[in-house]
Amino acid sequence: MDGYIRSARIHEYKKHLELDNISKPVIRGDEEVLVKVGASGLCHSDLHLISGEWKDIIPLNLPKTPGHEIAGWIEDVGKSVPENIMKPGDLVAVFGGWGCGWCIHCKSGDEQLCAFAKWPGLSSFDGGFSEYVLVPSYRFLLNVRASGTKPENLAPLTDAGLTPYRAIKKVRNMLGPGKNIGIVGIGGLGSYAIQYAKILGGGSKVFAMDRSDSKLELASKCGADHLVNLHSTDNLVDRIKAETGSKMLDVIIDCVGTDKTFYDSISVLAKGGSVVIVGLFGTAAKIPIAMTVLNEFKISGSLWGNYNELREVIELLTEGRIMNNITKFKLDDVNEAIELLKEGQIIGRGVLIP
Ligand SMILES: [Zn+2]
Ligand SMILES: [Zn+2]
Repeated sequence: MDGYIRSARIHEYKKHLELDNISKPVIRGDEEVLVKVGASGLCHSDLHLISGEWKDIIPLNLPKTPGHEIAGWIEDVGKSVPENIMKPGDLVAVFGGWGCGWCIHCKSGDEQLCAFAKWPGLSSFDGGFSEYVLVPSYRFLLNVRASGTKPENLAPLTDAGLTPYRAIKKVRNMLGPGKNIGIVGIGGLGSYAIQYAKILGGGSKVFAMDRSDSKLELASKCGADHLVNLHSTDNLVDRIKAETGSKMLDVIIDCVGTDKTFYDSISVLAKGGSVVIVGLFGTAAKIPIAMTVLNEFKISGSLWGNYNELREVIELLTEGRIMNNITKFKLDDVNEAIELLKEGQIIGRGVLIP
């Protein structure tokens, strides 16, 4: 049907997405860009969104198209989009955090921290589980026409491949020869985290920690030095003690973020060590005060990444320094992909192709 596009939309929380034919978005604002979606990553945040768990923190007007990891080709541009920067046909990656542009965070380049930041598919803006997505400004796009890569390789970099990069960059001064870094959770984010730990870790040993052997196998392919199955390891503290010569882990990137992973992390952290939480599975965990003070633990969070960090991870991809681990699904099979993600059956990142 001309003038119509296919979009997978939430009509009711906890229900399957519905594949709808909706009107094709049209450019209204001068800075807007219409992107023909080439690929859209499937994130655990989408599960929280679809289940309604986040309906109070992210109120949505239903129906809503999810999908915040998007890459594709420019179809149309508003009249003030500079032609030398972007033009129809260019391959682009969509940067998430659409900030206000003027606040202290936006001006320092961290638009994802803006109090007014909007994400496609996680706000009033529709996301990428669709044939087209309307982006409010060309400033939120990275033009990668010269990269020779494909949208399915770019889409996961806009979140899964970006979030752990920022987290590890923050603690890279604590890494180096003789140091140890643990990556907890080898899902969509974790397989990238292992690779960044090798690249930014300056010789640190990388420990992959997960409950699934097939995910640990992926971690091994990504360069992990030690594989720790959290399910079958009886005594995690003893195990890490033995494998680090009692040094324990200097840095832990928690890509899961439950109270269990938090306590596991704290229990194997070296004196002065740092836990950076990026996963959003849980709700709360108690901080052991004395242990934190006596060991000078640093506990922090890290959100997404900024535009230039996205530029950097795309650089790593196009230089062949990192590999993607993706499982492709047709947009029509979105509900099946969601079920597989829920069951932890997707190895690497699930990516929808419209
Ligand atoms: Zn996400
Ligand atoms: Zn702002």
